[in-house]
Amino acid sequence: DVDATNPNYEIMCMIRDFRGSLDYRPLTTADPIDEHRICVCVRKRPLNKKETLMKDLDVITIPSKDVVMVHEPKQKVDLTKYLENQTFRFDYAFDDMAPNEMVYRFTARPLVETIFERGMATCFAYGQTGSGKTHTMSGDFSAKNQDCSKGIYALAARDVFLMLKKPNYNKLELQVYATFFEIYSGKVFDLLNRKTKLRVLEDGKQQVQVVGLQEREVKCVEDVLKLIEIGNSCRTSGQTSANAHSSRSHAVFQIILRRKGKLHGKFSLIDLAGNERGADTSSADRQTRLEGAEINKSLLALKECIRALGRNKPHTPFRASKLTQVLRDSFIGENSHTCMVSLFS
Ligand code: ADP
Ligand code: MG
Repeated sequence: DVDATNPNYEIMCMIRDFRGSLDYRPLTTADPIDEHRICVCVRKRPLNKKETLMKDLDVITIPSKDVVMVHEPKQKVDLTKYLENQTFRFDYAFDDMAPNEMVYRFTARPLVETIFERGMATCFAYGQTGSGKTHTMSGDFSAKNQDCSKGIYALAARDVFLMLKKPNYNKLELQVYATFFEIYSGKVFDLLNRKTKLRVLEDGKQQVQVVGLQEREVKCVEDVLKLIEIGNSCRTSGQTSANAHSSRSHAVFQIILRRKGKLHGKFSLIDLAGNERGADTSSADRQTRLEGAEINKSLLALKECIRALGRNKPHTPFRASKLTQVLRDSFIGENSHTCMVSLFS
């Protein structure tokens, strides 16, 4: 794609040359999976057709298993162009070639065991609208091609049923349930029950309850896939601008283990609302701006909770938003593990 008429051509060449000088060592399935209480990763999504057509610059390089480089085009006063390269380190970095299975392997998969060991596990997908959160969590969910079997929800469910068969867990006679709900503008809606609006209450023992949330028993992966499909179609239906709505809500899918009815472990997988940049919303109408503010408030609350967790602080400010309130038990549990997959586009 050598094209001197492309205004980005010069910078494109610089990035290409820079990449040529790198020693690539991307993550492979042979890499060890480390134990983390909190694991923070990034995933780069490939440029889409439109971006390629527009000759958009691809300014992210992932040279190794935990490094992200951002190439920022700059200009000197004499107008000569140059690149400013910044390096960021994460627990894992997935390049645009990495399939969902690879992302799953290093993020959510290690957490499956946690819930069998009576723990709480949480996995978030974070990023701007269009960066690949739903693709990562639900699988290929573009309009024509609806295959949710390759998303992290389904991959986690598959491993839950595999682990259930292991002798030491089999003897516990655990039952598996799933819930799927949405948090939109601070309100909770049940995606497995025609978007019924639910109340969030805190009982005398400071247990946060989502009143009336449907918990469906699931016996196999196919049962889970059906629920994901129901929930996802419910999520995007009945809205004039379906995508705008779904990108402004947090979707929470949970796999719950119970033993004789009592909670044994819970895995919450969350497709977060797209984070908003002030610049994108300043011209939007009042309702949109308020929604944006609400989203940022909950993402900020989430950040504070994760920070408190990471530093083993005694106080976790989970009350600051509906999202963190609902996930309270995942944050304060002794045996709780969290991973955050941040998507780049
Ligand atoms: P988000 O949920 O963050 O708004 P989506 O998951 O809907 O973003 O992704 C936007 C588009 O990009 C979708 O058409 C999706 O299929 C595509 N996409 C996202 N990530 C990838 C990827 N890693 N590989 C291929 N296509 C992707
Ligand atoms: Mg989405």
